[in-house]
Amino acid sequence: MSDVVRTGGCQCGAIRFRLSGDAPDASICHCRMCQKAFGAYYAPLVAAGEAELTWTRGQLKYFHSSNHVRRGFCENCGTPMTYEAADGIAISAGSFDEPGQLPPVVQFGVEGKIGFVDRLHELPERDTMDDIASAPFLDDIVSYQHPDHDTDTWPNSPKEDKQ
Ligand SMILES: [Zn+2]
Ligand SMILES: [Zn+2]
Repeated sequence: MSDVVRTGGCQCGAIRFRLSGDAPDASICHCRMCQKAFGAYYAPLVAAGEAELTWTRGQLKYFHSSNHVRRGFCENCGTPMTYEAADGIAISAGSFDEPGQLPPVVQFGVEGKIGFVDRLHELPERDTMDDIASAPFLDDIVSYQHPDHDTDTWPNSPKEDKQ
């Protein structure tokens, strides 16, 4: 087992994890259940495999999507976190601090694949700030997303807004 350590967590930071060990397998799943669970066209997942998974902050909430599968998520912000079945646990790829290090190697559930997914790379591309004219709030936007690294305390900063 290698000593590679990967970390990640949900959008708000209430849930954090550490995955130690050999590079796990990343995939995308097109099945209808994964589409729903992620609110997306498909779900990117990283199978923990033999790597050691430790939840370092917070506790997941679970939805049993079938008699054999449960899906973990952050009850505070709603980020999908896990797919868990008898054959192991997989973690949502986008929740890793460096998801670009885990390229998917296989597609599952292709019977549920939405046709246009194969053409997404043909769409016109726009930078976030390209929309500044129609969305001027982007100019002074303040992110409440947890940073892409472990932190000592959570929440990181006291909320200053009165909303
Ligand atoms: Zn959260
Ligand atoms: Zn699936």
